[in-house]
Amino acid sequence: MIDLHAHTNCSDGKDTPTELVANAKAQGVSVLAITDHDTTIGWDEAIVAAGSQGIGLVPGIEVSTRALTPEGRGVSVHMLAYLPDPNNLALSEALEMTRESRILRAKEMVRRLAEDYPISWELVLEQLPKGSTIGRPALADALVSAGVVPDRSSAFESMLHRNSRYYVSEKTLETAKAISLIHGAGGVAIMAHPLIDFPGSLKDLPIAHFESLIAAGLDGFEVDHRSVPKFAKPRLRDLALKHNLIVTGSSDYHGVGGKENLLGENQTSQEMLDRIIDQASGVEAFL
Ligand code: AMP
Ligand code: ZN
Ligand code: FE
Ligand code: FE
Repeated sequence: MIDLHAHTNCSDGKDTPTELVANAKAQGVSVLAITDHDTTIGWDEAIVAAGSQGIGLVPGIEVSTRALTPEGRGVSVHMLAYLPDPNNLALSEALEMTRESRILRAKEMVRRLAEDYPISWELVLEQLPKGSTIGRPALADALVSAGVVPDRSSAFESMLHRNSRYYVSEKTLETAKAISLIHGAGGVAIMAHPLIDFPGSLKDLPIAHFESLIAAGLDGFEVDHRSVPKFAKPRLRDLALKHNLIVTGSSDYHGVGGKENLLGENQTSQEMLDRIIDQASGVEAFL
């Protein structure tokens, strides 16, 4: 059972890296990737935990990026980076800029929310360990702890969604730039949940958008993920086949109370994991 997309409390997951690995082991996962948003700080702890639990670990990152589609729509794209060198300067500096921007953005959202709800920056900081990548889930957790909403999902539905008046966007890397930074660090770039920022009414793949990212070096698509609509899965597989790209499947687990996604609910084949490992030159997988 190979699950290549999971979060810890180094970003917006609920488990520590050690807890994540123990939970993965308990669910029967044999190879797990840790893919926190825009950070590698959880890797070392996860590697040690995987060693003692006897499961495989693939160090990764979920890199926040943005792209302009050929139709001129700005979309957020999450790029999974597998096995990049965490000490690569260009990549680590770019990630640091994203994390800084996420802090400024979160502070502005808190300022707006605080006009209507009993939340503060201090309360938000209490929700996650120091140094973790901050995202809207930390704001959601603060709203939960203030008794404003019962859970993260309600916070997203009522005040943290994209069209909310409290919403502020963060500055992230341009997608093509992120792909080249990931490659420069020896990593493999797989687009996470490829349709997440497209309308639910979508009937066809945004093919020109995907093909322009393939031209920019994209290595594959996360096809099996609960946020990928059913119609899109065979089409994404066909597109991947046409361009000889990797396809993966993963949970995007965020812990209990993080998101409903369960470890191992989607999986990647051994063949595709082998291709990722063959293509990568940044760090070794711990298998
Ligand atoms: P941000 O990184 O600030 O853009 O926040 C996006 C993160 O929030 C994603 O990684 C999602 O996993 C998480 N998220 C989005 N919607 C929900 C939801 N309804 N419930 C819990 N987490 C969510
Ligand atoms: Zn997340
Ligand atoms: Fe994501
Ligand atoms: Fe994720």
